[in-house]
Amino acid sequence: MSVKTIGTLIVGGGQAGLAMSEQLSKRGLPHVVLERHRIAERWRSERWDGLHANGPAWHDRLPGLTIAGVDPDGFATRNQMVDYFIAYAEHIAAPIRCGVEVTAVRQDGAGFRAETSGGPITAANVVAATGPFQRPIVPAIVPPETGVLQIHSYAYKNPAQLPAGAVLVVGSGSSGAQIADELSRAGRRVYLSLGGHGRPPRRYRGRDFGWWYRMLGTWEVPVEERPQRHVTIAISGAHGGVTVDFRRLAARGVTLLGRAQGFADGAMRCAPDLARNLAEGDATYLSLLDAADAYAAREKLELPEEPEARIIDPDPPCVTDPILRLDLREAGIGAIVWATGYALDFGWLKVGAFDAKGVPAHRHGVSDVPGLYFLGLPWLSRRESSFLFGVERDAAHLAAHIAGRG
Ligand SMILES: Cc1cc2nc3c(=O)[nH]c(=O)nc-3n(C[C@H](O)[C@H](O)[C@H](O)COP(=O)(O)OP(=O)(O)OC[C@H]3O[C@@H](n4cnc5c(N)ncnc54)[C@H](O)[C@@H]3O)c2cc1C
Repeated sequence: MSVKTIGTLIVGGGQAGLAMSEQLSKRGLPHVVLERHRIAERWRSERWDGLHANGPAWHDRLPGLTIAGVDPDGFATRNQMVDYFIAYAEHIAAPIRCGVEVTAVRQDGAGFRAETSGGPITAANVVAATGPFQRPIVPAIVPPETGVLQIHSYAYKNPAQLPAGAVLVVGSGSSGAQIADELSRAGRRVYLSLGGHGRPPRRYRGRDFGWWYRMLGTWEVPVEERPQRHVTIAISGAHGGVTVDFRRLAARGVTLLGRAQGFADGAMRCAPDLARNLAEGDATYLSLLDAADAYAAREKLELPEEPEARIIDPDPPCVTDPILRLDLREAGIGAIVWATGYALDFGWLKVGAFDAKGVPAHRHGVSDVPGLYFLGLPWLSRRESSFLFGVERDAAHLAAHIAGRG
């Protein structure tokens, strides 16, 4: 089989792969994007039907192209996001080949040799753009023998997909909060196990939280100042974009639980940390209001006051008298949705570019292996690195580095 040669091989045709392609094209640098399935595959097959973009259309997009058919302050549906990425690839004339999987990349002289389902390719540079969320994590808590359907949030599609009965959702990030809300609205009995979380207000004083994060410099916090502890944030673009408020979910009939801790005799053990986790979420919520007020005063912004945003509802009974042992059969639970996050998986990258824990070793995406780059990872250079609105700056940085290699 003949070996093709290209300047830069980009692996992955999601937002990161497209942003990288655009930046290389701007510099006239030859490259190809290989995508094993279709453009934006994860938005097509690893997200639920009712998902909306987590940020308004003016904010959650790539530069240079607005999202067709969506009001700038509105939240794009999953399908609108897929259409957007397809349009974006056309807009930048990305040299993308879909249906080609990269199965292995190894160093080869001064460059790399990639084995792909379309034949081998050699390249001077490789950009790994295979996503921040690659392998679903399901904690080994509930044994499969319980007979309850267990799925990860990446495989959740809609309420009708789940067997009859109550549903236990585990996880208090955006996925867990949104899926629990959706199931409850569909009339399902829902139990929601919460861990530590942040929950910024959707809007405050007329501005979206994404705007406030921008003004307050939160998205730009550099990786060097990354907080020790990762706290997932719960935000939602569904139903026009509403603040995630777990107490209001409880008022609608969702039973809140502490962190899922163990399993014995048909019952899940929940940590006695529910009130603490809620309080932590409230603290992040209120601290954003404080920071926003201070910023508005300092900058003399004429934004409407919103004192009612500071009202926190009283704790519901499931918080004041928490369930510490949830018997799945007694609760009528037919399914568990684990919204418990993802791990990286670079099994295809047979290059010594990882630390002892298997985490990519790089500085702002530039690895120690000459010509090898990572893009789109959480905190690649800044907090916003893994998000749609943050990937371009990192891509520009990598393109400049690639150009500098000659
Ligand atoms: C439920 C959910 C909702 C989100 N919503 C938002 C949001 O609204 N706004 C926002 O800014 N961020 C959001 N994010 C975060 C982030 O923007 C997305 O995870 C986004 O998909 C990341 O884009 P990416 O291009 O880095 O990676 P991915 O979208 O994961 O793309 C990587 C691509 O690489 C391909 N690939 C993988 N391995 C190979 C291989 N070996 N060979 C060839 N191709 C390969 C995959 O098929 C995939 O298409 C969300 C994340 C999740 C989980």
